[in-house]
Amino acid sequence: MSTQLDVVIVGGGHNGLTAAAYLAKAGLSVTVLERLSTFGGAAVSTKSFAGVDAKLSRYSYLVSLLPKQIIEDLGLDLKLAPRRYSSYTPLPGSDKGLLVDNHDRVNTQSSFDSIDAHNDAKAWGEFYQKTTTLAKALFPTVLEPLMTRTEAKKRVEVLAGSDQIWDEFIEKPVGQVIEESFQSDLVRGVVLTDGMIGTFGSNLDSNLDVNKCFLYHVIGNETGEWAIPIGGMGQVSDGLRKAALEAGATLLSDCDVRAIASDGTVSYTSHSPEHADEVLDAQHLRAKFVLANVSPSELEKLTGIKDVVPHAKKADGAQVKVNLLLKRLPKLKDQSLDPVAAFGGTFHINETYNQLQTAFEQASRGEIPNPLPCEIYCHSLTDPSILSKELQNQGAQTLTVFALHTPHSLLAGKDNDEMREALTRAVLDSLNSVLAEPIEDLLMLDENGKPCIEAKTTQDLVEDLRLPGGNIFHGALEWPFAEDGDDLSTAAQRWGVATKQENLLVCGSGARRGGAVSGIAGHNAAMAVLELLG
Ligand SMILES: Cc1cc2nc3c(=O)[nH]c(=O)nc-3n(C[C@H](O)[C@H](O)[C@H](O)COP(=O)(O)OP(=O)(O)OC[C@H]3O[C@@H](n4cnc5c(N)ncnc54)[C@H](O)[C@@H]3O)c2cc1C
Repeated sequence: MSTQLDVVIVGGGHNGLTAAAYLAKAGLSVTVLERLSTFGGAAVSTKSFAGVDAKLSRYSYLVSLLPKQIIEDLGLDLKLAPRRYSSYTPLPGSDKGLLVDNHDRVNTQSSFDSIDAHNDAKAWGEFYQKTTTLAKALFPTVLEPLMTRTEAKKRVEVLAGSDQIWDEFIEKPVGQVIEESFQSDLVRGVVLTDGMIGTFGSNLDSNLDVNKCFLYHVIGNETGEWAIPIGGMGQVSDGLRKAALEAGATLLSDCDVRAIASDGTVSYTSHSPEHADEVLDAQHLRAKFVLANVSPSELEKLTGIKDVVPHAKKADGAQVKVNLLLKRLPKLKDQSLDPVAAFGGTFHINETYNQLQTAFEQASRGEIPNPLPCEIYCHSLTDPSILSKELQNQGAQTLTVFALHTPHSLLAGKDNDEMREALTRAVLDSLNSVLAEPIEDLLMLDENGKPCIEAKTTQDLVEDLRLPGGNIFHGALEWPFAEDGDDLSTAAQRWGVATKQENLLVCGSGARRGGAVSGIAGHNAAMAVLELLG
């Protein structure tokens, strides 16, 4: 075996690349092993449709939680564009809807009025004042060692002037404060969806998993704003990959890690450069520290250690993602609204509060929810650069659909292709329920005459990215603070990246504060290594 490295990173997702960049910049010898032929994991752009020059963010698509500090530290050339419209939500069974326009209060108030939610406009402002307080108290700590619950509560209380906000958002199911704050079923639903992204729970989820998901959706960079990465999500990972390379890290693709030993030996197989199908003999690298960008479940298999990441809670995914390329934006049932405004922010479909609860109950019984709650983003409206000039001139637009409440258990024992088809059908039906024309008629065709539509089930995510149960965050999310009794005696524990093995740290979504495209887990694992090396 060759000489010992300082660090081997298993997995070249955006977090593995972030850790590599920080550690190589600090002068350490770092090698990243990625099993796929490209880097970035769930943060990539791809040309998904044969012969069509459209580069879509294949999995993740919006950025909020990537701290400005990481962008500055690593000199990333990254533009994140805000969206003018916050959201549009059609009122089911009508030709009306709620448009929340960040630039026009008067218009927004009249939109609340039009769906008989007059008082909820004021409540909206007050509610998001509260989440801004949470954001200002908690987000500045995500690149620091973990606070305890008591310390975190104190920070929120000092800013808020009482313990009310902490109590409403951290201690009790977030559905409660939503019910108390808003009267309209539609408005309540729009607000609650932030708790349901990739998280399967009831509206009043007593496990508080919905609260954790909600919290991460409203604290990013102290505003909770979600932005579009110009050029697509691949730009984020590409910037990080370049930063890691420039700092001197070695990045090896097509390297499937098979085992991690307690002495820091990492064994992997790679493909022959000449013959992609030919797997070469196992190779080994040894390092003082191994960082795992893979999920805690995957890490269990690689180390043979049960519950190797002690804080990690397993949870399956509960979403289906569908990418579409359209000839143009569809016409809405609500003819008073320009589709450019409706699709300019998050377009919520069949996501009223009652619909979310019904969908949760249907899915819990093993049924695909009907109608399926979905949210849609149109990347190309804010950033046409992901389309060729020719497609732009033709008026083509991309749509990204993220459908909720489709837990991995729905697929158990079933054929994945059949389930993908059934789930895609449910997504299209849900979408068509608010359109004035069938979405199928607007799909562009690829060079083989096939419609430009791509769906990713939870099973696809298991196979493509090894996400456990298709969970987009590698497992259940954790609070951005430690519990008061938690052992925080080691650097790895303080940074929220500890495993049961001292020389092995997590640097991916499965770290505390790791979920989403943020680089936070990569940064924090790198800081723990530097602290351990003194
Ligand atoms: C459909 C979908 C939509 C999402 N939408 C958003 C969004 O809009 N905004 C947002 O902030 N977040 C979103 N997320 C979540 C976000 O993308 C992830 O939390 C984040 O990208 C995870 O990054 P990571 O680097 O920690 O892990 P990953 O991206 O999972 O990377 C892990 C890497 O490890 C590699 N690997 C696995 N096993 C091995 C092995 N044995 N050997 C070598 N390599 C291995 C994988 O191939 C992968 O490249 C979404 C995720 C999905 C799937």
